[in-house]
Amino acid sequence: MLEDKNPKRTPLEELGEFGLIEHLTKNFTPTHPTTIKGINDDAAVMEFGDRQTVISTDLLVEGVHFDLSYAPLKHLGYKAVAVNLSDICAMNATPTQITVSIAVSNRFPVEALEELYDGIALACKRYKVDLVGGDTTSSTKGLLISVTAIGVAPKEDITYRNTAKPNDLLVVSGDLGGAYLGLQVLEREKEVFKVNPNNQPDLAPYAYIVERQLKPEPRADIPEILKDLQVRPTSMIDISDGLSSEILHLCKQSGVGCNLYEDKIPLDPQVISTSEEFELNSTMVALSGGEDYELLFTIAQEDYPKIKGNPHLSVIGHMTEKHEGAHLITRIGTKIPLEARGWNALKKD
Ligand code: ADP
Ligand code: MG
Repeated sequence: MLEDKNPKRTPLEELGEFGLIEHLTKNFTPTHPTTIKGINDDAAVMEFGDRQTVISTDLLVEGVHFDLSYAPLKHLGYKAVAVNLSDICAMNATPTQITVSIAVSNRFPVEALEELYDGIALACKRYKVDLVGGDTTSSTKGLLISVTAIGVAPKEDITYRNTAKPNDLLVVSGDLGGAYLGLQVLEREKEVFKVNPNNQPDLAPYAYIVERQLKPEPRADIPEILKDLQVRPTSMIDISDGLSSEILHLCKQSGVGCNLYEDKIPLDPQVISTSEEFELNSTMVALSGGEDYELLFTIAQEDYPKIKGNPHLSVIGHMTEKHEGAHLITRIGTKIPLEARGWNALKKD
């Protein structure tokens, strides 16, 4: 046993997820000239020759990130790959390879893992990435999946979180809030099923949002669309935790403020109707829901005509000077400070 030289016991929730990462990694400084970006973005960046390589990794834990009572293993495999590819796309890069590591308990037969890998294969095919390795081990309880994704881009294309400028426009792809509401629907049906196992849920009215939760798609099309439009984003991040949390990441790292306009946030009709059904405010759902895996980025004002009217893209606000802070401008014109109430795994409510 290692001797415990530090008897202090600080609870994890005191730091929260981001505070913990900062704390644990503060003394690690890159020493290789090939390390262009280490910790603090959607992916790390390394330079070998004139192209840069980006790499990102995620760990999914049964009971924390997924519940096998409603997430089929095939979907889970697909999602585990998709969320990692999203981080590569968030660097404005093209995903090329993945590795997959799993820890499994003896509760899983081979057939179950085959299903998991069917989903992984589907995502590899859909997004044209090669599975090139991984690791397999046992766990005492439950399933753990870790995916590492690798991508490439010419040096000048890589887009970071810390390069937004005041007056840049804030743009988001697709629509928001669906994945969170999809989860609410699945959780509700699970409770119904527990009470009455013969009750088959009718998920048809929720097809879009349930799909957003179970089978998210990384926006690999957006870097291509931007290239075609000859728009160079000035900063970029993907929406894993919720719009407000990601906006605050861009603001903090770029040293800017932001005005976000409530009436510009793109919402699918199913998000609006399901929010009403659950008595939730659809704006709050978009701000704090998370797991939509859309891309959030900034562009120079002069590029606005190039993206105007594009069905994949919505301008939702603009960046300001840092001292102005980050705010939501509501439909009735009031200004509310943005708060990172996104999904924060370690923080108490
Ligand atoms: P994302 O939500 O985009 O996946 P995270 O919030 O998980 O990003 O991570 C933020 C940054 O911290 C990334 O650069 C990531 O590589 C780094 N990071 C996260 N956990 C650790 C860890 N345990 N050790 C070192 N770096 C970490
Ligand atoms: Mg990310």
